[in-house]
Amino acid sequence: MASRPWPSLRPETAEWEAFAVALAEHGTTPCRGGEAWTHEDPGPRRAAALACRACPLAELCHEAAESTHEPWGVFGGIDRTPKAGRPPNTERKTA
Ligand code: SF4
Repeated sequence: MASRPWPSLRPETAEWEAFAVALAEHGTTPCRGGEAWTHEDPGPRRAAALACRACPLAELCHEAAESTHEPWGVFGGIDRTPKAGRPPNTERKTA
């Protein structure tokens, strides 16, 4: 398996609900239909994190991922996938 599907929106937190509302209003995002955001190889995930910089929902996306402690994949421009021997990455870099 090279990737996993985009996680279904889980509005069980206020952050995910806010993200879902914004996504419905915005219509699309760079990750829509893309597999790189959840690819098992780090290279595609690095490219995905860069593509997130063009996303107007990045802040909400990051907050949603934080609210449910998403364990891996790219959200809001950061790759949360743990590197070997390290805890998950949850720090969001602003450009
Ligand atoms: S910030 Fe979130 S919604 Fe936007 S492209 Fe990245 S992963 Fe997708």
